[in-house]
Amino acid sequence: MNEMNPATAKVMPMGADSGLPHIIIVGGGAGGLELATRLGDKLGKKGKAKISLVEKFRTHIWKPLLHEIAAGSMDVGRYELPYQAQGYWHGFQFRYGEMTGIDRKKQLVYLAATYDEEGREITPVRSFRYDTLVIAIGCVGNAFNTPGVKEHAIMLDTPEEAERFNRRLINACVRAFAQEGPVRPGQLDVAIIGAGATGTELAAELHQTARGLVAYGLDKINPEQDIKITLIEAADRIVPALPERISKGVAKTLRDLHVDIKTGSRVVDVTDKGVKLQNGDFVPSELVVWAAGVKGPDVLSHLDGLEVSRSGQLVVTETLQTTRDPNIFAFGDCAYLVPKGADAPIPPRAQAAHQEASHLYVELQRRLKGQPLRPFPYRDFGSLVSLGGYSTVGSLMGFIVGKSFFIEGLFARLMYRSLYKMHEMALHGPGKVILDTLSRVITRRTEPVVKLH
Ligand SMILES: Cc1cc2nc3c(=O)[nH]c(=O)nc-3n(C[C@H](O)[C@H](O)[C@H](O)COP(=O)(O)OP(=O)(O)OC[C@H]3O[C@@H](n4cnc5c(N)ncnc54)[C@H](O)[C@@H]3O)c2cc1C
Repeated sequence: MNEMNPATAKVMPMGADSGLPHIIIVGGGAGGLELATRLGDKLGKKGKAKISLVEKFRTHIWKPLLHEIAAGSMDVGRYELPYQAQGYWHGFQFRYGEMTGIDRKKQLVYLAATYDEEGREITPVRSFRYDTLVIAIGCVGNAFNTPGVKEHAIMLDTPEEAERFNRRLINACVRAFAQEGPVRPGQLDVAIIGAGATGTELAAELHQTARGLVAYGLDKINPEQDIKITLIEAADRIVPALPERISKGVAKTLRDLHVDIKTGSRVVDVTDKGVKLQNGDFVPSELVVWAAGVKGPDVLSHLDGLEVSRSGQLVVTETLQTTRDPNIFAFGDCAYLVPKGADAPIPPRAQAAHQEASHLYVELQRRLKGQPLRPFPYRDFGSLVSLGGYSTVGSLMGFIVGKSFFIEGLFARLMYRSLYKMHEMALHGPGKVILDTLSRVITRRTEPVVKLH
């Protein structure tokens, strides 16, 4: 990435629509792309405001699908959405590049230059002037300075990393199949550090796809014996952020699948051979995934003095405005907000990002009309954990009784899938969602059920 140099950044001209208020959204993820799409449709297309989306990748993948991509049960190509096309269809400008800084006085957002695989520049260092800036750049894995994580573990922060993990998994299986001798002990073992929703879902998904891979002819590998999955968690139970009953349900399913669960285990080192625990145990592993905690991306701590929390997220008020600049909003995983009366911040979840995007969609229109902003009312709808094709368990919030209740099985699975459908609906509307769903159902029957390349 090119270092930001505000002095040399090219300030881009506003174009024919320069008289319009300019709303720039940075980050086209679960929340940002929904907001850009809906504001583009409502204001951009009608010439009431200029809407721009700054994003460091060129295609969008909904982040909760990353563990399925990593395991190989989902083909990225079928689910990715090009920002350029989405902007063209929905009335917003796509600006390719990574935000590296802002100038609050001049109301500029800076973008790094972008390069192709051969190192040729695609876009130069640029800056864009905003009237309202909305930051929705998500969060990144937090290694808590654990040695070896950067070098030897993969974090599922981006589609690229999920695909890298998947390629390494397939390569390891093909290597084991092609070698002369039998599969060596530990040669195909996987260690997942962090047994939150991401880690547990990945463990189940991997169990399923590993068997799928072998079923396509890599029959020298005995999945029960040769592929061992270890789930390592520092807390005394898995999915510690969710109610105990869910934790027990998830643990039972995983144990039935022979996933080795190590709770109360702190990782002190990750090497190219495996994972070292504080109690001295060593977990040999060919592949290591780090899914133990998140923090705000580093750039947030250098945004011209905006306030950040200890977790590196932007601190926002109940209107989702940053505490030190009312022209800058932040939401989704990169924002830190403890709602009134709550004792914990809003968790980094897609359901929160979706609710906040819907809230800002209305509130930013009110702001353009000079009306006062209303506080964001967060509603926790519960949490669900999908364990591949084996099971889905979770809790749903019953709003009449005000308590959560436990669900599992088909109903839980449908509820889990409905979160993605809500995201797709916000991006495409019902017609395209129905057509896309049908086409995926049909092609699933004609293609391998796991990725083999
Ligand atoms: C494997 C996995 C499973 C999950 N499962 C669930 C689940 O079941 N339910 C649930 O509610 N949540 C789940 N989550 C959490 C959920 O994905 C996040 O809470 C959600 O994606 C947050 O949305 P967001 O818009 O804040 O950020 P993101 O969706 O992460 O989007 C951020 C965007 O900003 C872009 N970006 C980052 N930095 C920059 C920059 N400097 N400049 C420009 N662009 C930038 C990124 O490329 C990305 O497109 C899961 C997460 C993972 C990793």
